[in-house]
Amino acid sequence: MRLTGRELPNQAEAGSPALIQRGGQWWLHTPVEKQFKRPQKIQTQVSTPADTRICAVDLNLTEQMAVCTVQTVEGTILATCFIGGGREISGFRKRQLGRIARNRHKTGMIAENEQDNADLWQKIQRRDDHHAHLVSTRIVQFAQAQQASILVFEHVGDLKPTRGKYSHRGNTKRAFWMKGRIFRYAKYKAWNEGIITSRVSPWKTSRECARCQSLVARYAQGHLEEGYTSGAPLVLCPACSMRGNADRNASLNIGRRLVARYQKQAVQEKPPTPLLANTGDQSSALPPERGSKDTGVVVCQEVKSAEGPSLPSTRHADANEHGTAQDGSLRMQKRSSDIPCQLRLFTE
Ligand SMILES: [Zn+2]
Repeated sequence: MRLTGRELPNQAEAGSPALIQRGGQWWLHTPVEKQFKRPQKIQTQVSTPADTRICAVDLNLTEQMAVCTVQTVEGTILATCFIGGGREISGFRKRQLGRIARNRHKTGMIAENEQDNADLWQKIQRRDDHHAHLVSTRIVQFAQAQQASILVFEHVGDLKPTRGKYSHRGNTKRAFWMKGRIFRYAKYKAWNEGIITSRVSPWKTSRECARCQSLVARYAQGHLEEGYTSGAPLVLCPACSMRGNADRNASLNIGRRLVARYQKQAVQEKPPTPLLANTGDQSSALPPERGSKDTGVVVCQEVKSAEGPSLPSTRHADANEHGTAQDGSLRMQKRSSDIPCQLRLFTE
């Protein structure tokens, strides 16, 4: 008998294997156990040392699938990473969906309870899954490299119905599902590295200035620098003149929001709840699994200053769903933020 399989991860112990039959094949499933120190609760991490690093991730449906920023609890911005590949995966999906649509047109009726074009659906599914693994792995690698101990995403909002051809609608839907998948994968991969994952509300993360919380103008290069064009790549804050990449601004807001949440709780002197619903707190260690080290789809770039990164792309496509982006009618106006972002309770 000859066996093939992956190598055991480092510092992991193999348990007793089980023999599993899958169709005509036999698989040997080996449980793997890895001991590590459980990361501290976010509440503790955010309130004690001021140099705790938070990696915030803004997920998109455009070319830059993920934009990650690392900042300290005090708000010092340390690095930015753009993870691309959205256009490629979207193009692939669109071609397959087009083929499915044409096949259906030729066949006419589709039998009930029967999956048509099974091989094509599977192809899309596999490619999506593969990309979700690549992106989530890259996010965790970046967080690790920057010594971040907390990873934060925003809640994925509702899928808004899109118009257009079958392939376009199907594509948007799948890109949207992929966001959820990237989150799930990143969460367990991060946990294996001792990084705790959380999520915050997506409310206005794209619309507020990460520096002063005023409403920003969002626009495309060469266009008027005012109003709010959903999905446009650039932002300008009329209050503090902050200028930069829109997704990066959103990512910074996601990180700030997490800090604000816990500092707000501290102000109210609530007893720390043992298990918060969205802290990503996990009670059991997952079996270690090393994601693919392939970085074929990613473009990474570090920005040392707080100022704008060189823009990866201004060709943002039609549908940039942030979950916060509503219609483009919102004009710049000052508003007081409902989150006391500037609290520095534990840093003095
Ligand atoms: Zn501002």
